[in-house]
Amino acid sequence: MPELPEVEVVCQGLGPLVCKRKIISVSFSNKRLRKPFPRAKMYRHVEGAFILGVERRAKYILLRLTGKATMLFHLGMTGKIGIFDCDTPRRKHDHLRFLLDNGKEMRFNDVRRFGCVEVYSEKELREHDPFAGLGPEPFSEEFSAEYLLEKARGKRQPVKSFLMDNRVVVGLGNIYANETLFAACTHPQAPVNRLSKLDWQRIVKKSRLILKKAIAMGGSTISDYENVSGEAGYFQLELAVYGRQGQSCKRCGQPIERSVLAGRATFFCPVCQK
Ligand code: ZN
Repeated sequence: MPELPEVEVVCQGLGPLVCKRKIISVSFSNKRLRKPFPRAKMYRHVEGAFILGVERRAKYILLRLTGKATMLFHLGMTGKIGIFDCDTPRRKHDHLRFLLDNGKEMRFNDVRRFGCVEVYSEKELREHDPFAGLGPEPFSEEFSAEYLLEKARGKRQPVKSFLMDNRVVVGLGNIYANETLFAACTHPQAPVNRLSKLDWQRIVKKSRLILKKAIAMGGSTISDYENVSGEAGYFQLELAVYGRQGQSCKRCGQPIERSVLAGRATFFCPVCQK
């Protein structure tokens, strides 16, 4: 499943290719994604609009449009966005096509169809924030040791589940939560109310470092994610604990262990992570 770095890479790749382009028309497949296509809103707010910018919020890709509307994509499990010449043959699972004024087509392909697309008018965005309730971005100032310490007060939840909770912080999915806790020498099961400010400082610092590295390397390719230009990322070669059970810890040599925490595969070094 694409996580924050993959989505960020898509946004960074997509931006220069679509900004200032006009969307001439939208075409839909006869299948539906996680939700039905918002056809009426597409015709009203998207067709004929110019793309002003591409932004990421959590794992959503936001296209800001003229008319102050916003089109939002979620890649779900297998969603991909690509730019093609409009005469490039369509591939199976291309569910949405946006013809641009330079003869290119932006296509949304999704094999498993857990992805979604939504359109919000200016009024809707003003009246109902689709991101209300989401925690801060990992790179924002708000995501700090002080914030986490306060948020964790009185909670006995394991730190890994806490970090994967979107209400605490967005975008730290399973892979990056595992890697962050290894880098921060913190056991995934540690109850959050037992962590000190120093522990949280390490967690904040390491999570940013790991996410930044993953973005720089083009995202991770644990699932069948590809970036906008169709290239695969290489981050999986760099993973320190994720998927490495039985292999030796890169720090102390002890075998990495695997357990299941809140239904998710959890990897850790029993020596380095206390
Ligand atoms: Zn170790």
